[in-house]
Amino acid sequence: MSRSFYRDTWVEVDLDAISHNVQCARKYIPDAELIAVVKANAYGHGDAPVARAALDAGASRLAVAFLDEAISLREAGIDAPILVLGATRPEDVNLAAAHRIALTVFQQDWIEQAKQFWSSEDVLQLHLKLDSGMGRVGIRTEEELSACIQSLQSAPYFDLEGVFTHFATADELDTSYFVKQKERFENQINWLTKHHINPRLIHCSNSAAALRFPECRFNAVRIGIAMYGLTPSPEIRHLLPYPLQEAFSFHSKLVHVKRIESGESVSYGATYTTEKDEWIGTVPVGYADGWIRKLQGFEVLVDGVRVPIVGRVCMDQMMIRLPYDMPIGTQVTLIGRQKEENVSVDDVASYLDTINYEVPCMVNFRVPRVFR
Ligand code: PLP
Repeated sequence: MSRSFYRDTWVEVDLDAISHNVQCARKYIPDAELIAVVKANAYGHGDAPVARAALDAGASRLAVAFLDEAISLREAGIDAPILVLGATRPEDVNLAAAHRIALTVFQQDWIEQAKQFWSSEDVLQLHLKLDSGMGRVGIRTEEELSACIQSLQSAPYFDLEGVFTHFATADELDTSYFVKQKERFENQINWLTKHHINPRLIHCSNSAAALRFPECRFNAVRIGIAMYGLTPSPEIRHLLPYPLQEAFSFHSKLVHVKRIESGESVSYGATYTTEKDEWIGTVPVGYADGWIRKLQGFEVLVDGVRVPIVGRVCMDQMMIRLPYDMPIGTQVTLIGRQKEENVSVDDVASYLDTINYEVPCMVNFRVPRVFR
């Protein structure tokens, strides 16, 4: 349940859209487990409600970036298996085990240190991360892999549940680097087989790979961006096998409307000057909400019409040019639909010259999330 809030600015998260996107992925990928990636507060959407919706719709596991995110899901009462994709401190292995949280491992030293800290009666699930070309975390050589396996063999309380890698370019039309990574990963899996290691879960596909390359699904896929209804990249939009439903919308309300005479300026730096008498509306959203100053000049929706953000975005407020006098309390949609018009997450990303992943993440904790 969302906490009460007293400001007229909020994000709406459509949990039916999340369910729809997960159900479509489930139908399209019937033979692999679906790991719902809910790191970064579910890409800014709200981790626990999104996790519940994804699990109800057919996801069997969750993945987050670090231990705190996993514990926060446990504290919200979520019982499903959770995998931490990033690094965890070796001293926190007992905590992870106590919460039944699986960790990612990719260094022999880490395993040796974790053994020193281990005092739990439980078993800790581990997933071995292989670096097939992302260059972030993961084992690259057979020697490193052998060393890790050797260390794990003397620690029966560490259960190697999974092995995985991550693709750097699965969302690009040019598949050459993707194919190189896939081949490397297959080779790395062969190293494991040589050591008679057969983890129950093998996973490498993010949304783009899972939706484009059936041969890459192994027995689990990690779906993030497509679950939120966003395309992994504009260039593969036409290749998506089913229509996605965007879950995130962002709204506010006019708190002040005034007529400003021609030749007057608006906001810090007086960077915008009216060319004629204009109706200017003040919206209580600013860069401290993550609605950054670079969005000056971008458009929002009022009464189903696109209108520009005029003058600099302030810390907590911004001004927009209204087509006519509008009542206080009129809804302003920064992301989402009004009547026939839509401002998409992709529109914001394109204006800011970034990727859609960044946009809902950037709208920060100051903005309450409302779930419907
Ligand atoms: N797996 C890992 C290791 C990730 O870092 C991410 C996201 O960045 C994902 C899976 C999910 O990727 P996507 O959101 O493109 O589906």
